[in-house]
Order: sequence, then structure tokens, then C-alpha cells
Amino acid sequence: VPEIVLVLASVTALYSLAAYLIVKDNRLHLAGLIAYVAMCITVILLVVLSGGIHSPFIGLWLLVAGFSGLFGIYMIGAFAIAANVYGLYYLATGLETGAAAIALMIVVEAPLIASFIIWHNRINGHDTQAVNALQAQLSQVSSKSDVIINSIADGVVVIDSRGIVQLINPAAQTMLGWPNRDAVGLDYRSVIKLVDTAGNPVAEELSPIRQVMASNKSATNNDLILVTKSSKKVLVSLVVSPVGEDSHQTGVIAVFRDITREKEEERQKAEFISTASHEMRTPVASIEGYLGLAMNPATAVIDEKAKSYLQKAHEATQHLGRLFQDLLTVSKAEDARLVPRQQAVDMISFTREVVEGLQQKAKEKGIFVSYAPGDQDTDGNRRITPMYYALVDPDQMREVLSNLLDNAIKYTMQGSVTVDVKGDGDNVTVSVADTGLGIPPEDLPHLFQKFYRVDNSDTRTIGGTGLGLYISRRLTEANNGHIKVTSTFGKGSTFSVQVPRISNERASELLSSSQPGQPSAQPGAEALPAFAQAAQAPVVAPQPATPAAAPVDPNTPPTQQIPPAS
Ligand code: ADP
Repeated sequence: VPEIVLVLASVTALYSLAAYLIVKDNRLHLAGLIAYVAMCITVILLVVLSGGIHSPFIGLWLLVAGFSGLFGIYMIGAFAIAANVYGLYYLATGLETGAAAIALMIVVEAPLIASFIIWHNRINGHDTQAVNALQAQLSQVSSKSDVIINSIADGVVVIDSRGIVQLINPAAQTMLGWPNRDAVGLDYRSVIKLVDTAGNPVAEELSPIRQVMASNKSATNNDLILVTKSSKKVLVSLVVSPVGEDSHQTGVIAVFRDITREKEEERQKAEFISTASHEMRTPVASIEGYLGLAMNPATAVIDEKAKSYLQKAHEATQHLGRLFQDLLTVSKAEDARLVPRQQAVDMISFTREVVEGLQQKAKEKGIFVSYAPGDQDTDGNRRITPMYYALVDPDQMREVLSNLLDNAIKYTMQGSVTVDVKGDGDNVTVSVADTGLGIPPEDLPHLFQKFYRVDNSDTRTIGGTGLGLYISRRLTEANNGHIKVTSTFGKGSTFSVQVPRISNERASELLSSSQPGQPSAQPGAEALPAFAQAAQAPVVAPQPATPAAAPVDPNTPPTQQIPPAS
């Protein structure tokens, strides 16, 4: 065995061993190929250097060549070319003749043919098997997803990144009136036509589908109307989600559901609550009024015991009346009927009136309510406060501030409540701070939701519906303001209402142009609803009343001195 062959054989063996131990599965084919080629070179060199066709190592060649098919048809081809060139060279040059020539051809061709038969079929067979398995798997997955998409009751439309409809499920076909064959391949704007609740077509840049394509973030919309192929309008809940990653967005999926019935049911429910609470307010106001008459010594003679019973009944009726009023306000908020009748309101005197209206209640509970704008400064002089005008609905604002103050008194067992009004160039902020129970941090984010009440041992004994703060938020928002709370559990809370400020000049203009007879910010109007006001004046027949009209004096100077509230 020549030395060079020994060296080559050793290198091949070492490399093969190392590759076997180190190389990972996904590189094994390449490593195997290199080892095989090295082995081939070693064997060919050995055979050629040790006598060619007469070499005692010819068996090795047969063995090695037999495995060429393992690396595919190209490897067999390469072997065939090399071996045949070698064989033909020997035959052509007459180096081998007769039986030796035949043996030569057998040695050259036999292992290649055997290799082809053994490996080619096996590898091809393996390929076909794998392809078949993959195909079966794919068709299984696709038929599964077809079944799922087709059985979804919601409409599903898949749109590619160019805005072309790629898939439309049967529910979407029925809802939109577009058969699959017509819709697929069309621009989505021809298939999914959206209009707003007023019936105006949704502008391209505001369309949720376009927005999702641009932002790659999913979007939900419950206020749009879908126009079908036959121009029928369907109220839908639309959810659009992007498909693919940020950089490789491949389109969007739009899922929509007909919510016409749900909306109609919602509307009927709200209408029922609204009608019921409206209708029930009248008899309650009447009961409240007659109870007032019965308790009034000028109109009825009753003994002290009966009076105390009637007093309790009166309070309960008032509570019931407020409850109906709250339900009415909530139902108005739900169907956008909370339209504010805004006017210029001097927030300082307005808030002071609200505070004064609830002083009696606070006093009965032993809580001291101070009104900061009327405070005296450290030198004992009254604080000079600028005028803060805001454009708000006074009735709605009154309800908000009463709710906050009422809560501050209700949830303060002992201590004090401070109401303040502050302002800057843009806003006026009324704050109601108490030293009461405080609110646990985990409840703070939910406080302004409908029916939300903090549930702990302190609050459980205090009655309430959880509607007050929800109503306050909706009313404040209706007046372009916002409401917020800060609180330390066990120490107290501060609720603040911020509304946009208007200049004194603008306020004067608005006030002088306001018609007599319009509801106004007249301090002194009661915080209670109209029917309750009727009941509060027992000598008058218990009819619903409207607040008196009296515009705020436009000639009030821009600053004023307010006497202390208490
Ligand atoms: P209600 O007072 O009828 O329960 P609200 O909507 O007015 O409903 O208030 C919701 C909840 O917020 C109350 O149940 C109470 O736990 C909490 N809350 C409101 N105001 C205060 C306050 N000033 N101090 C402590 N907790 C408060």
C-alpha cells in the first residue's frame, strides 16, 4: 500500500469519526458526502497505484462504487463518467484485451448498475412516500380549516396586502350577497362597503380595514353599517386583525357579525327602563308631596309618633325618587340623549350653592364641610378669587357636584370635607376632598363604571347603587370635561372635575345673549330633580316643577369677594 494512500486513508478515517461525533443532524448529509468523496479518492488511488484492474484491492472499489447511489443520481453519474473514461482509456490504448477487457468493463459498470438499482429506487420510493404523506397531511389540515371557516356563523373575509379578497366564507357570502366566485379576486372596497350611522360612506383613511393594513394592529368597531350587494343595510360588529408579522404583513382578516337584533334589544331594554322610571317618578313625587303635606303643621295635625313614621317614609320616598332619576339618566347616557344645554356658569358661586345645599346633611352626620374659595387667608382677610366661568349645563353640573359631595359625606365617618375651585387659562377644576374611608388601589380603575361599588366591611353597611360616579363621569364627559380620583385607603379621597374654562368676556357675551326663560346657572336652584323639588314644597300641590330662570348678572366684576361659606 503506497504511503500517500495510507495518509489519505487515515485522514478520511479521522474526519469520518470526527464528523460522526460532532456534526449536527442537519449537516450530516454534507459531512457524509465529504467523507464519501475522500474515501473514493483513497480507494481509486489505491487501486490505480496497485495495478489497476489487476489490483488485489479491486474489491474495495466494487464496495465503494456500490454506495454512490446513496448520494443521488448525480453521484452515480459522476462515478460512471470517471470509471468509463478510465476503462475506455485502457481499452482504447490496448492495454487490456480479451478476458481482461471484459473483466474491466464488468468491474467498471457492475457496481454502478447495482448501486443505481439499489439506491435510486429506494430514495425515490422514500421521496414519493414523504411527498404523499405531506400531501395527505396538508389536505387534512386544509379540509379541517375549510370545515372550521365554513361553519363559522360570523362572516370571514381574508384580504391580502394589496387589498384583494382572497377568501370569503359562506356566512360572509350570505351577509354581503356576494358569491365566492365573484368576490374572490376583487378589491375589498367593492365587496365590503361601510357607512356610518348617519348613512355617509366611511372615508378610505377611516376604514378599519385600511387602518389595520397601515398600523398592523387589530381594530374593533361596533358602530358601522355594512351595505350589501343589494343595498341592504346591516348593523355589524367588525373585528379586523392583521395577518403576519410587522415587516411581513400578508393582509388582514375581517370578521363581522350582524348585531341588528342585539342593538334593537338593547334599545328596547333602555326604552323600557327609561319609560318605567319616567312613569314611576310621577306617583313617587305625588306620595312624597302628600307626605310633606301630612308632616306640615299648617296643613295637617298629627301626633309626634306618626310624624316620625312619616318622616322615615318621606326619606325612603326621596331615596326611591333619586333612584328612578339615576336610572333615567343612565338610560339617557346609553342612547346618547344626554345632550347638555350649556351656558356660561360662574363655577365659584355655583359650587358654593351646591355645598350649601348639602351643609344640613353634613351637619346631621357631624361632618364639617369647608368651601375653600370663601376661606380667609393667614392675615384674616378674605381670599380674593378670580371669576372662573365654564360653558356647562348647570343642571348636569349640579348633579355631578352633588354626587361627589354626597359621597364624600356618606363615606366619611368622622372628619371633614373640603371643596375647592381652582383654575388656569384653559380649565376650571372643582375638587372635593374628604378624610373618610378612602378607596383601595385595586378598585380605583373601576370606580367610574356602571354599578361598581367597593365591596369591603366598611362600605357594606352603606347603601348605594354604584350609579352615582358612572353618571357623574358621563355627565362630565358630555360637558367636554373629565373626572378623576386620587385616594389613600383609610385616609381619604379627592375627586376632581375639570371642565374647559371660558374667558370672562365670552361669558358676558353669552349671558347677555341668553334668552329669558332658559334654564340658568342661578345659584339657589335645588340639586334635586324637578319632581323632588315639587315635593319639597309641601304647601304647593305636588306637581313637577321647572327651575326658575334667572341669568347670571353679566355686569359682575371679573373678581369678587365671597363671604365665608359657613
Ligand atoms: P354608590 O355610592 O351609590 O355606591 P357611586 O357610584 O357614587 O355609588 O360610588 C361607587 C363606589 O365608590 C361606592 O360604592 C364607594 O365604595 C366608592 N366611593 C365613592 N366615593 C367615595 C368617597 N368619597 N370615599 C370613599 N369611597 C367612595
